[in-house]
Amino acid sequence: MRSLRPVVAALLLAGIAGPAVPADGPADSARAVVAAELELAPDLHLLRIGAGAYVVRHRCPFVCNSVLVEMPDGTFVFGGTPGFPEAAQLVLDWIVREHGRRPVVAIDTGYHFDNLGGNAAFRAAGFPVYGSDLTVRLLAERGERMRALTLGFIADPDSPYRAAHAALQFVPPDHVFPIEQGLSLRFGGEEVRVIYPGPTQAPDKVAIYFPGRRLLYGSCLLLAGDRPGNLAEADLACWPEGVRGLMTLPVAAAVAAHGTRLDPGLLQNTLDVLVRHQAGAAPTALR
Ligand SMILES: [Zn+2]
Repeated sequence: MRSLRPVVAALLLAGIAGPAVPADGPADSARAVVAAELELAPDLHLLRIGAGAYVVRHRCPFVCNSVLVEMPDGTFVFGGTPGFPEAAQLVLDWIVREHGRRPVVAIDTGYHFDNLGGNAAFRAAGFPVYGSDLTVRLLAERGERMRALTLGFIADPDSPYRAAHAALQFVPPDHVFPIEQGLSLRFGGEEVRVIYPGPTQAPDKVAIYFPGRRLLYGSCLLLAGDRPGNLAEADLACWPEGVRGLMTLPVAAAVAAHGTRLDPGLLQNTLDVLVRHQAGAAPTALR
């Protein structure tokens, strides 16, 4: 693998099992390890967190994580997408370069750009993109309003990301499932589960769970930092309940859309951040 370099020596020295290798011990004994980091562009990195499992970290300009997992049948599954199709294309190019032509499946985790902004690249390549019926509807109804809001988060008027976001073509998923039902896909015997935990950070946010790896991609409904982020559409009453539902899953590695933590403690951290926010927020700010 070209320009693969070891990172996070301390984590490696800890000698703990990666999440993509099914572990025998209890879930909380296994912790996520970044085994290697591959740079596809200055703002786009693949972090290998287990056999065939990667965090796709796109700084666009804020950290936006999606996940990429190689299934036993050779299919590459994207959980979420990079923020823009150009970045998604770089990952597709990497797959071809390193592994040859492979089937690719993308799963959108919501209608915000950091959940489906790469769709145009997948659709142009003929790859299926799964997403919920609510995501399709909200993208049509609220896409432009959310674009304006997101542009407001990019303070630098000369930022190339601002221009990219202004020009981003909203492409909906073409394989649509009822959000309340969620989705289960299988590739060579390995399951990928799409879970709707109810309204959380946005009405249509879904989590993607790889049970064979105990890997949970929580997208924007998991909080990796100490602040809640974009709450424009958050349901602060239902969000904690949704997270508590996910806490019943065995999880060795958890990935949030924003931030660098990859451990299962992200779930409790999300609850803690929301409690602190609720305690400090005026009622009018809640929704
Ligand atoms: Zn987000």
